[in-house]
Amino acid sequence: MPRPKKKRKVNNPPQMHGFKPFGIAFCDTEHVVLQYDEYETIKLVIYDKLPQDIAADRMEVSRPTLTRIYNSALSKIGQAFVEGKAIIIQGGEFEFDKDWYKCNRCFKLILGIENNTSCGDCPPNDKDELVHLNE
Ligand SMILES: [Zn+2]
Repeated sequence: MPRPKKKRKVNNPPQMHGFKPFGIAFCDTEHVVLQYDEYETIKLVIYDKLPQDIAADRMEVSRPTLTRIYNSALSKIGQAFVEGKAIIIQGGEFEFDKDWYKCNRCFKLILGIENNTSCGDCPPNDKDELVHLNE
């Protein structure tokens, strides 16, 4: 029986759904899909400047797996950058380490939630305003 694929830990959900190139109409662009675990490697290795073995520990994957995800992320970002394509961030084999919610109106990220139905910035009483990112 094959071992079930282990989920990669993502601790830092992105603020945005993606990027679009300036000077190119969005409807004219193709897009590349950057997965959440690929985004996380960019955050840890480039933004936080962590060595890849430390980044691998954070995501609970092996060093070669981390390198593979990271190289895939760089390749997609390079392609989008050079070819003027939008980047959509979604999907991937991952789980968040904490309960993350996102406001559907202002896109604010909220960690955990207790008797809250709004992000605290937007007017309350809007149903389904907060999206649970873990599901
Ligand atoms: Zn909000």
